[in-house]
Amino acid sequence: MSRLLLIGTGGTIAATASDAQRLTDYEVTQGIDAMLAAIPGATDIADIRCEQPLNVDSRALDTGQVLRLARRVRQAADQPDIDGIVITHGTDSLEETAFFLHLTQDTPKPIVLAGAMRPASAPSADGPLNLLNALRVADSPDSRHRGVLVAMNDRIVAGRWASKAHTTRVDAFGADGLGVLGEICDGAVRYYAGQPGPQTPLPAGPQAVFPLDAADTLPATDIIHDYQDAPLHAYQAAIQAGVQGLVVAGMGNGSLSPAAEHGCALAVKAGLVCVRASRVPRGSVTPKASDDATGLLAAHQLNPLQARILLRLALAQGMGRSEIAGLLRRL
Ligand code: ASP
Repeated sequence: MSRLLLIGTGGTIAATASDAQRLTDYEVTQGIDAMLAAIPGATDIADIRCEQPLNVDSRALDTGQVLRLARRVRQAADQPDIDGIVITHGTDSLEETAFFLHLTQDTPKPIVLAGAMRPASAPSADGPLNLLNALRVADSPDSRHRGVLVAMNDRIVAGRWASKAHTTRVDAFGADGLGVLGEICDGAVRYYAGQPGPQTPLPAGPQAVFPLDAADTLPATDIIHDYQDAPLHAYQAAIQAGVQGLVVAGMGNGSLSPAAEHGCALAVKAGLVCVRASRVPRGSVTPKASDDATGLLAAHQLNPLQARILLRLALAQGMGRSEIAGLLRRL
């Protein structure tokens, strides 16, 4: 029997509403032990140990909490008596934690995130089955060497590519490219492609393993959304606030409005690292000949949220523009 660590952090999967038909207005009320105990047969899958470092709505997670979670996951992955880790998490910022873990963990052991779109009090709550499936994924030997995974709505999605693509439906998590790695079908964990080995790169793309030192914070970085006739003041405010990095969720292939161009020029002059990402949900942002002159970096295959996480971790290591450019190209 495999030995799994189940870490509860909160979210809709741990929430209940004041009446059963209320699907979108609820409070986090349930602990991870009770959630596990309520799923018939779940404890037969593996030897499961529960931990509850926090129990919050994921919209309210702060950097310190994510750093502590990442450190605990790394420590647990090093423990010989733990074969896999499952984390229950709110879906609102699940993709951010998944990408953060993708960049900070380096273990063949499965790390699986799961959440729910409907509270536990709903007539057709998706949480119990998502959690059961996540445990099955973490228990499966086929899940080793696949990096951080998200198990939602019968699908196994790479944490590298996971992104919330619907506000309310249970099928909320989509992924581009090689992001959907497999499925859980009537309890069976099935991957679409063979298992990578220790030397083969993850099908989900390379990881960049950043160290996790004792700090409880990371350099401040902002995302500014671009649009027609955007104003300059958000850029001025970011520079004045002392942020070290800026991601612009630009238009199309990372094109910038005149104010965004101007704002980025001011930011680069002030020493910030600036990344051109896109507000378009799918596709890469390709480098431009003018990037060297303007000092901007193309986000390549990272969306704005992911580019911001990469920037924070890279800036914390003292990396500069050219090293960050290399990471953006590689990821
Ligand atoms: N607001 C919730 C959260 O992110 C949404 C969810 O879990 O689905 O914690």
